[in-house]
Amino acid sequence: MPDPLSPNVQHLKASETVAISNEAKRRKAAGEDVYDLGVGEPDFDTPAAAAQAGTQAIQKGMTRYPPNVGIAELRRGIAAQLSRMSGGRAIDPDQLVVSSGSKQSIFNACFTLFGPNDRVLIPAPAWVSYPQIVHLCRAEPVLVPGDIEWGLKVSAKDLDRHSTKTTRGLLLCSPCNPTGAVYTLAELRSIAEWARKNQVWIISDEIYRRINYGSGPAPSLLDLPEELLERTVIIYGASKAYAMTGWRIGAALAPPHLTKSMAALQSHTTTGANHPAQWAAAAAFTDERVDAEVNRMVAAFRRRRDYLVGRFRADAPGVEFVEPHGAFYFFFRVDGIREKDPVTGTNFCEQLMKQEGVALVPGAAFADDRWVRLSYAVSDAELEAALDRILRLIHRLESARAA
Ligand code: PMP
Ligand code: GLU
Repeated sequence: MPDPLSPNVQHLKASETVAISNEAKRRKAAGEDVYDLGVGEPDFDTPAAAAQAGTQAIQKGMTRYPPNVGIAELRRGIAAQLSRMSGGRAIDPDQLVVSSGSKQSIFNACFTLFGPNDRVLIPAPAWVSYPQIVHLCRAEPVLVPGDIEWGLKVSAKDLDRHSTKTTRGLLLCSPCNPTGAVYTLAELRSIAEWARKNQVWIISDEIYRRINYGSGPAPSLLDLPEELLERTVIIYGASKAYAMTGWRIGAALAPPHLTKSMAALQSHTTTGANHPAQWAAAAAFTDERVDAEVNRMVAAFRRRRDYLVGRFRADAPGVEFVEPHGAFYFFFRVDGIREKDPVTGTNFCEQLMKQEGVALVPGAAFADDRWVRLSYAVSDAELEAALDRILRLIHRLESARAA
C-alpha cells in the first residue's frame, strides 16, 4: 500500500470535463470518427492581433519573470474593458490580480477567503471545479439546487434556506456553465442584497459575460451600486470570449486587502502568469480589431444556439432543456426520455460515445445526473452532424419506451 496522501486532497477528483476532452482528442488522433461537444472551448483561433502581440513579446525579450500581479498594460486593459461593459464605472487596475487562467483566480480568491468550518454555497448544477476548489480550501461546499421552472437558477430565498451562521461565501456563475442561463440584473441585485445582509462573500464568475444573447454583455455585479459590492470578487478572463484558452490568462477584481493577499499567495505559487501571454491578452482587451472579432464569434455562437434549439424543438419535442441565453452550453434532460427505465446522464453519454461517436458531458459532473451538457463551440457542420447522431440516440431510446 502506498503512503496515504494529505487530507488536503481527500476529496480530490480529476476534472471530468478535462478528462472527457482528453479522451475525445485521443480517439480522434487514433483516427476514430468522433465529434467532441464535451469540452467548453471555442473552436475559433485566437484573434490575429492578440496572437501577434504574443509572438512579438517573445521576440522583444519579454521572457523574464513578469510582475507577479500582472503587467500594467494588461491590468489597465482589463479594467477598461470591465468599465466599458458597465456603463463607464470606474475600475481601479490596482485591484486586479492577473493569474494563469481564471481557474487560478477562483482558487486564489477561495483559498484566501475560506477555510475549515466555512460553508460556501454553490448553485447547482455547478461547474465541475467549484466544489473541488472549495474542498481544497478545507471548507465545505453546499450545493443549492436551482429552480427547474426558472432556468435552474437560484433566488435569494433558495440561498437563505441553505444558509447557516457559518456560511461565508457564494460562488455565482452567470452566464452559467453548464446551463447557459443568465441572471437578470434584478436577480443579481436581490442576491447581492441578501449577501450583504448576511455578510457573505460573492465570488462572481463572469468569464462568459460577453457571450450573451440579449443586447450587449450579460448583467454583472459591477452594474450594481458600490455599497452592495463590499464583499465581492469579480472573475474575468481571456479564455472564452477571446478564444484564448491555451494562453491561460484570467483575473480577479477584489477589495484592496484581498488583492494583496491573493498576490502574496500567487507570489509563492506561480510568480504570476506567463509573461508573453500577458502581452497577447493586453492586446486582446484593447485592440479594436479583436473587439470586432469577439462580436463575430458571439454572433456565430448565437446562430448555432438558434439552430440547436430549433432542432430540439422540432425533432425532440419531449426533451426538456434550459433555454440558453449565454455562454455556449445547452443543458438537456435525459431522465424523461424513457419513463420505465430512465437513463442517467452518465448512461446516455456512454451510449452516445459507444454507438454514435459523440462526446458530451454527463450531468453527474455538475452534480445532477438527470441532465447532459452539450458544448456548441464547434463548427456549424460539426454541430449539424453531431446533432443528427444525438437525435438518433434519443429517438432509439424513445421507441424503446414505446415498445
Ligand atoms: N469558470 C467557468 C465557469 C468555466 O467554464 C471555466 C472554463 N474552464 C473557467 C472558469 C476557467 O477558465 P480559464 O481557467 O481557462 O480562464
Ligand atoms: N470550462 C470548460 C468546461 O467546462 C473547460 C474545461 C474545464 O476547465 O473544466 O468544459
